[in-house]
Amino acid sequence: MTANPRQKPVFRFAPSPNGPLHLGHALSALLNRDMAISEEGRFLLRIEDIDLTRCTPEFEAGIYADLEWLAIDWERPVRRQSEHFEEYQAALDSLIAEGLAYPSFMTRGEIKTRVGSVEADGGPWPRDPDGSPLYPPDDRKRSDFDRQQLLTSGLKHAWRLDMTKAMQAVGEHLSWEETGDGNRGRIPTDPGAWGDVVLSRSDAPSSYHLSVVLDDALQGVTHVVRGLDLFPSTSVHRLLQALLGLPAPVYHHHRLITDEDGRKLSKSRSDTGLAELRERGLSPAEIRRLVGL
Ligand code: GLU
Repeated sequence: MTANPRQKPVFRFAPSPNGPLHLGHALSALLNRDMAISEEGRFLLRIEDIDLTRCTPEFEAGIYADLEWLAIDWERPVRRQSEHFEEYQAALDSLIAEGLAYPSFMTRGEIKTRVGSVEADGGPWPRDPDGSPLYPPDDRKRSDFDRQQLLTSGLKHAWRLDMTKAMQAVGEHLSWEETGDGNRGRIPTDPGAWGDVVLSRSDAPSSYHLSVVLDDALQGVTHVVRGLDLFPSTSVHRLLQALLGLPAPVYHHHRLITDEDGRKLSKSRSDTGLAELRERGLSPAEIRRLVGL
């Protein structure tokens, strides 16, 4: 008997336990599970809890309860990112060793003041696809000596990707394979639009971008199915994959569930929360209909 040479597709739902799951999460989880079944693939659940101040065991327990109620089954053990900080640190160390990451010392308040003063003078300040101002260039331009002194002084810092150097190091225009609800086909990346993204924070020893690409690779994820709000971030993810020598999955960014004003659902709204809807007597079948499946 010969083994099937075809590797099973691997899907994953990767929520952050920093609030209760809502209808948008239900769409994502159900789509991932449905696609895994129709492709005869595997379905994984990953808990993205690197933000130790906002993630709680109660919200994590809520994720399990909501998914069980929706009759979604996932493989055990579940990967919890907070148990793998050393792996993210090792990847960050390799980027630092290649001179592609630098320590950044400005606080949120300092960035706000800087950007505000430039904008008050009528000057434009570049913003990323989420609308946040790009990080000022000061720390990137520091001399090695200066940097070392600040580090030894114990000043709080984050680590950021030197976007220009990183794009040069890759040296080619990257793209990804997209099968989702917006643009389809090969999508050219534009990581420069994000500026010098954070790779680890002083209060969280990794970042969303770094841990998501490492975990997708480590878990053999072949299909990333997630909301269209993360479509622009995929440019950063492709760049990090290229820098770290990781394979690129296929991406499927799905439509978002919005409120009556057309805004993305937020975790602070309880009327679209799955636990609340369950308590009000809705059935899993009704949730499927509500999210348009
Ligand atoms: N943890 C992210 C979130 O809850 C999703 C990450 C992803 O699917 O790539 O928004």
